[in-house]
Amino acid sequence: MYIFHKINDLQNYLRKSNKTIGFVPTMGALHLGHISLVERAKSENDLVVVSIFVNPTQFNNKADLVNYPRTPESDYKMLEECKTDIVFSPETDEMYPSERSEEKKLDIGKLGEVMEGVYRPGHFNGVIQVVSQLFNIVKPDKAYFGEKDFQQLTVIRFMVKSFNFNVEIVACPTVREKNGLAMSSRNLKLSEDGKKEAETISKALYFIKENKEKYDPDQIKQKAIDMIESSGKLKTEYIEIADEKTLEPIKSWNEKKHVRSFAAVFCEGIRLIDNVGLS
Ligand code: AMP
Repeated sequence: MYIFHKINDLQNYLRKSNKTIGFVPTMGALHLGHISLVERAKSENDLVVVSIFVNPTQFNNKADLVNYPRTPESDYKMLEECKTDIVFSPETDEMYPSERSEEKKLDIGKLGEVMEGVYRPGHFNGVIQVVSQLFNIVKPDKAYFGEKDFQQLTVIRFMVKSFNFNVEIVACPTVREKNGLAMSSRNLKLSEDGKKEAETISKALYFIKENKEKYDPDQIKQKAIDMIESSGKLKTEYIEIADEKTLEPIKSWNEKKHVRSFAAVFCEGIRLIDNVGLS
């Protein structure tokens, strides 16, 4: 496994390789959810590049950036174990040197006006900035993203179309702990009690899936919030039921065929997100 920290070194290596490239962008603190993306990329490409970069421009909250878990040694070990070809792990100065001109802005319209777009202002601008730059550096044939961050996946697809990137976006299903909690780097910040408590988030999203015939969307959203908040230890930021393509919230079940329930919930001060397809 090669580990590159400099853009030039990575590009020199890739230029010589002349192989199909599968790319998995991450912020590190890797878990089996990330590894599922790497395995999928390995099965569909000659060469797999995984980036590890905690991108400061997508954090709207400074404390969140500072506290974001960083576990480089264990990340390299996990990637080595699953036979990753290349890791790209740049410093912030390498990605954002002060002399670089302003990034290309993209208006994501209504995609940015719901859920994460509302509660994390500027977040998707930062995601677009870093992913477009990484695509320009790596020039992958395929790039792998988790459904765990479903709104991000939708925004990336929109970006690829808007900027005419010649890359196929592959969506990978959410990997969960045994108790249903969606795997996330942020789970490292939870106590054992917190992890147990947080299982209610996916339970509430699956409750929506299994009981949607009995209630209208607004009623069942309230039921899910009540479930999540019943112990007094979790605080809901939003529960939303939205169309899978446009991410627009629905008011009745007949409006759209493919809908998904989404949640952002605080547990022990850590913000966790999850979503479940309802179709
Ligand atoms: P992150 O390191 O959180 O930026 O995530 C990097 C990639 O891994 C993103 O495409 C995420 O959607 C994906 N990912 C994170 N957690 C999971 C999970 N539990 N299952 C599947 N993919 C995931």
